[in-house]
Amino acid sequence: MIRALRYFIIIGLLAAVAVWLVDQPGAASLQWGGYRIDTSFGVLAVAVGALAVIAGFLYRIWLFIRRAPGAARSSWRGHRRGRGYQALTKGMVAVAAGDAGEAQRQARKADGLLSEPPLTMLLSAQAAQLSGDERAAERFFRAMTENRETEFLGLRGLLNQAMKRNDSDEAVALARRAYRLKPDSEWVSQSLFELQTRSGQWLDANVTVKEAARNRHLSNPDSRHRQAVLAFQMSLVAAENGDAAEALKQVKAALDLDGNFLPAALGLARHYAGAGKARKAGAMIERLWGREPHPAFVPLYWQVRGASTPLDRVKASEHLSGFNPGNAESDLAVARAALDADLWGQARKHLESAGGDKPSARICRMMADLEEAEHGDRAKAHGWLVRASRADPDPAWVCGSCGHTVENWSATCANCHEFDSFSWCTPPHVMRLEASGGGDEEVIAVPEADTSHAFIEHMSAEDDETNPAIVKPPLPAEG
Ligand SMILES: [Zn+2]
Repeated sequence: MIRALRYFIIIGLLAAVAVWLVDQPGAASLQWGGYRIDTSFGVLAVAVGALAVIAGFLYRIWLFIRRAPGAARSSWRGHRRGRGYQALTKGMVAVAAGDAGEAQRQARKADGLLSEPPLTMLLSAQAAQLSGDERAAERFFRAMTENRETEFLGLRGLLNQAMKRNDSDEAVALARRAYRLKPDSEWVSQSLFELQTRSGQWLDANVTVKEAARNRHLSNPDSRHRQAVLAFQMSLVAAENGDAAEALKQVKAALDLDGNFLPAALGLARHYAGAGKARKAGAMIERLWGREPHPAFVPLYWQVRGASTPLDRVKASEHLSGFNPGNAESDLAVARAALDADLWGQARKHLESAGGDKPSARICRMMADLEEAEHGDRAKAHGWLVRASRADPDPAWVCGSCGHTVENWSATCANCHEFDSFSWCTPPHVMRLEASGGGDEEVIAVPEADTSHAFIEHMSAEDDETNPAIVKPPLPAEG
């Protein structure tokens, strides 16, 4: 509306100017060849203006004709790029849907339409992987690492491939290269750490943890705990190599970093006991017993208290149990010594107190020993041994990731390679149940706490619904 009004005003003004010019006095005369034109100055001015407008219009037409081929070319290119991106998108969707054939077809199409190899190479690599052609995928990933923009993506692809085929040397080298490229990437930092711990590169892993904390990928307590685990693992390696001084230094460092780290506490108590520092070791065990009574402390405590006779051991155990009265491990420490000292009544009292109405396998075995030693009652002893086979297993170092159980703690699980996965608890429970209808027995493994890890070794199909796993998870480990 405002625009139209503006045109009207301009046209009106031009008309007024033209009329005013025509009305002006003055004459102009043009002579060209055999012609002579006499006119007023106003008419000449209007004619010159009209000629200028026509010339401008003709120039615009000429420009349009001259630019036409370029415009057509660019429109064709735009159309091609659009189709290329469409193929790329379709290819990505095919990858997500797991359609290898379609993914490869779209990858080839996108590659032909787009002159941007970095974009299409990733799709080609993924399509190749999907169709099981790891070698072709590797070629694409390698090509991607040669381009600065796609180097990281290429390295990530190669790293995943190396991890899949368990080539840890190659994987560590690739992870390091990716880490140099993007040190603040949490994925790279975590992958590098996992690879380093899997291949026993404890010192390098320690550096990675510190840098991860600096980049805020790990909280301060998590970082300190991981460093404690690594330090204690290094102390175990040093002790194995006969370097006692380094072993002591690392175990102390581990406890400085995480005072609640039980394996390191046990390690230091063992060191003090071995080095004849009886008072230091004794005080440490008493303090830890109040917090985390671990059965491995008991023989150490006997040693540092100089308890050489069975009766001395009963006294030492009673003294130790005073630091955590009522705890099952305290009762078991006394029962263990009382059994050796032939103090049947005392042993029975503490075993019953430790076991309650659901004694664990360890308590059942000790009860069997007691029945046989005190009364020579083999039938009763056998009964306790049968009960032991069905009772909750003894606490042990259990991998929280795969359920693997070991006697001695280590920084990584030998079964699933998870770092810092061991905790002292009751292991997954394997027990036999009478099948409800048939005669077959079924073996059901029940995890200690997390039922998502429950696995069924054997279960007859017809009992699947009528007899679900009616096994209650065992009680959590005490201490
Ligand atoms: Zn494991």
